[in-house]
Formats: sequence, C-alpha cells, structure tokens
Amino acid sequence: MHSLFIFITGGIMSSLGKGIASASIGALLQARGYFVRMKKLDPYINVDPGTMSPHKHGEVFVMEDGCEADLDFGHYERFTGLRCTAKDSLTTGKIYEKVLAQERRGDYLGSDIQVIPHITNEIKRFVMEGHELADFTICEIGGTVGDIEGLPYIEAIRQIKIDLGISRVACIHLTYLPYLKTSGELKTKPTQHSVKLLQSMGVQPDIILCRSEKDISDEIKTKLSMFCNVKKKNVVEALDMENIYLIPNKYHLAGLDRQVCDHFDLLDPELETQAEKEIHEKWVALEHAISVPSKTVRITIVGKYTKLKDAYISLSQALNHGAIANDARVEIDWVDAKKNLQDLENELGSAAGILVPGGFDSSGVEGKIAAIKFARENMIPFFGICFGLQLAVIEACRHVAGIANATSREFSDEGEIVIDFMDSWESNGLMESRLPSDNKGGTMRLGSYRCKIIENTLAHKIYGITEITERHRHRFEVNIKKYRKLFEKAGLEFSGMSLDGLLPEIMERRSHPFFLATQAHPEFQSHPFAPHPLFKAFLKAAIQHSDTLASLGTLTTSL
Ligand code: GLN
Repeated sequence: MHSLFIFITGGIMSSLGKGIASASIGALLQARGYFVRMKKLDPYINVDPGTMSPHKHGEVFVMEDGCEADLDFGHYERFTGLRCTAKDSLTTGKIYEKVLAQERRGDYLGSDIQVIPHITNEIKRFVMEGHELADFTICEIGGTVGDIEGLPYIEAIRQIKIDLGISRVACIHLTYLPYLKTSGELKTKPTQHSVKLLQSMGVQPDIILCRSEKDISDEIKTKLSMFCNVKKKNVVEALDMENIYLIPNKYHLAGLDRQVCDHFDLLDPELETQAEKEIHEKWVALEHAISVPSKTVRITIVGKYTKLKDAYISLSQALNHGAIANDARVEIDWVDAKKNLQDLENELGSAAGILVPGGFDSSGVEGKIAAIKFARENMIPFFGICFGLQLAVIEACRHVAGIANATSREFSDEGEIVIDFMDSWESNGLMESRLPSDNKGGTMRLGSYRCKIIENTLAHKIYGITEITERHRHRFEVNIKKYRKLFEKAGLEFSGMSLDGLLPEIMERRSHPFFLATQAHPEFQSHPFAPHPLFKAFLKAAIQHSDTLASLGTLTTSL
C-alpha cells in the first residue's frame, strides 16, 4: 500500500478541537491496524511555542527529544500512544529560519525567494519526510482557514493533492454549526462560507466534520452535501462531548473512520470487524471506566495561569488518568497563588491533595510556598512538579532548617541560593552546557533524561524500578553541591538523582503520608491507557486523606 495523507483544516473559528479530532482519527485508523504518524503545521511565526505565554496560548508540550511543541501534540500522544519528535512539528518561524539560512549560504543564487515555491516547497518537504514509515501521515493545519499566515499551507496542500493524486490524499475540514435558539435550528451558512473560502484556494474538502451541540438532521446533511460539494455520507456529525476520551468512539459511530477508508478505497468487512473489536476493547472500556467511578476526589492546584485551563492541559489529563486508575473521578480546584495568604489557607483546608505545578518567575511564589508549608504541616498529600520541587526545597530550608533567606536564582541574587543556575550537566554520556546570557528560546534542560531511583524510598515503591526516564523543561537546579548538609537538616530526602549523581530529580519527606516532588514533568508521559505511576499514587493518597477527613467529619457529627 502507498503511504496516504490526511490534512485537517479548521473553519469559522478557533477552539473547535482540531487537535482532538486529528488525534481521534489517528486512534481510529490504528484500531484498523494501520501505522499512523501525526504532524502539525502551525502557521504562527514563532519558531516554537516555547516563548509564548501559556496564559494565552495554552501549555507548551515537551516531546521526548526536547522539542517544545504545541499542546495538540499532547493529545496526539495520549490518544495514539505515539512518541512524536521535532520532525513532526513545523511553524512558519522554523521554515523562514531555514530558508533564510539557505539564502545566506548562497543556495538560491540568482533567484528571488518567494512564498511560492520556496516556502511551499519546504512545507511539502516537511509533510513528505518519513512518510514511508507510516501507512497514514495525518497533518493538522493550525489556525482557521482564511488566516493570512495559513495561506502557504493551504497552497502546499493543493499542490500535494495534484502531485500525489486524490487517491492518496484526503482533506477533512472541521467546522461548526451554530444553534440559533430563536429559530430552534442549526445554521449551515458559516460552514458553507468556510468551505467556499477553502475551494477558492483550490482545495476541495473530502469530508466535513461538523461540530454541533445538537444532533444533525438528515436534511442538514443533504444541504451541506449539496452546497459544499461533498458526498452526503461524508458530512459527519461531531457532537460536543463532556469528556474528550468519549470522542473517538463517537466519531466512529458517526462513520468518520469508515468514510476515511472509503475515500481511500480501503473498505474491507474483515477490517471493519477488527476495528469494531479494537474500539470496543479500548475506547468503549475507557468510556465505562470514566462514566461509573465509585468516588470523587478533589485536588487543589496552586498555580499562576488558572484562567486558561489549557495552560495545564497535560497536568489535568494526567490527574484524570490517575483518578481512572483508582476508580475515581477527579475534581480540580484551581487556586490562584497570588491570593492573600489567609484566603489561600482557607481554601486549602478541605483539599484532599495539593499540587504545585511547573511555573516561571517570582509572581505567586510566596503563595505557592505557603501552600507547600500548609500541606507539609497538615499532613495533606503533596505533589510538586518542576517549579513545585524547587519551591518545596526553598520552603523546607526556610521553615524547617530556619534559613529565612533561602531562595532561587530565578528571582534573587541575594540570600542562600539553594536553587541555582547550572552551567553544565551530563546527558546520556555527553556534556551539555549553557550560559545565563543564552537566548531564552530552546535553551533550557529539555526533553527526556534518565534518573536513578534510590531503593527503599517512596519513589522506588511507586515506580517499582531503579532507573526511569522523564521529560524536563527548566533552567534551574537544586544546588546540592553547596547545600547538601542544609537539605539533610531540612528533612529532605533525594530519592531520584541524575545518572551521574549530580542533579537531584526526585525529593520526598519520610515523616509525611505523601510528600513527593519531581524536577521533571511526568504529566507529559501519562496516558489514559497507561496512567503515570506518580499521578496514580498521588491520587490514591488523596483518596485516603479524603476518606480520613470524611470519617472525622462523621465522628464529629455523631459525637
Ligand atoms: N522556573 C523553573 C526553572 O526554569 C521551573 C520551570 C518549570 O517548572 N518548568 O528551572
């Protein structure tokens, strides 16, 4: 079989869930036994999202190889189990960086450099690279059709369709049918316009995936089929779902994967039966686990970007996975670390577990440190991630070891700098280094690093092995070289260390039911079908704490 290509574009407006739709298509094709590869082409001009605000743009996802990527890669990995790489993520910034470097080198001597063909050729090269390794290359185009930045991408798709022929390329357009309450109907006009726009650029969608809050009638499908020039069966309903993991099966029931295979002439009754079985065993089983949990557990996240939930998407997903593994549902209370300390403590009192996630700079730091102190003193399960570990170290130095001016280089050059800038470290046998003056983009300790787990610790009990790999994204490290004695006095135990023994990776506290922090970002490796052990254990401890609180409450009322 020739390798095949699926392009996914979005119409009308952003936030329709193109990433989840793409991930679901990948998962459904896998259920039919195909090898898929997921790529994303992001039209923005940043080289990567590493320098964008998570507050506006959502989380920066970190791949195993250290590529800082759009959060949709998190959906791809969680839905398909694939490990994406830097070769799967393209931005306009990356293309221009490459084309301009080639121009400076003299590669194009004599020609003027233009969007067509120079930029479009690079886009095509990116799409084609490694295609022979997969049956399907699924490419999501970021943004909305009509965005100025997106034009070269649509043009590249148009050319690829000509180059390979329509039998090897399918274009899926995700749109939205707004429901007009006053007339009680779903409106198709925005979709018609969006498809016209795409057609005006030479691209005819093969399938239209229609997001909608209400069922789409046969009449609407007929109308969309006629006005948008697609087969009626290829107008596929994509109803709003309360949980994203219900989406693959819902799309399957709406006929999406069937129509994709029909487009490529791949329909085969045997494969249909296999897909049915696979989807049932995986996605329907997950659906059951999600919909009938025996308990609910409340986790309090004390963070900075609490308004845009996408800023912590992998984290909240990892908590969901941990809850599913404990036959529970998690409810997250987002607490703004910039709150005044008294209000903060009032909110933390009833938490079953407190989590301090990754973060940058000094805003909200005192609130996060207060939350860690509260968790430590009140024996509430605590889980610190990256910045959460660094602040837990500062908290212990200040309040347990009595070093009031313990701090991090990130926000002060004065005091005892227990978290400091490290200029070199070992990575898989090679030395890596950086300077404080280095560019901000792409210069952190990024991607997967191995870690040695010390036996007879909580970390060892949880992981069950003595060497693990976790993804990183940070600039500062625990300064164990200088402050080992102080950390011992503060009751900190480092249960995970880098393989060379120089960098603390996991920290815990023995005299506490569950107090563990990691310098890595385990949330990036958690999957619905393989919940991350740290999240599973944290949720378990939180459930136990919540049961204890409940039984105390019962005791108080019955006394
Ligand atoms: N700001 C800290 C650092 O750069 C932690 C980063 C993070 O939490 N991802 O080291």
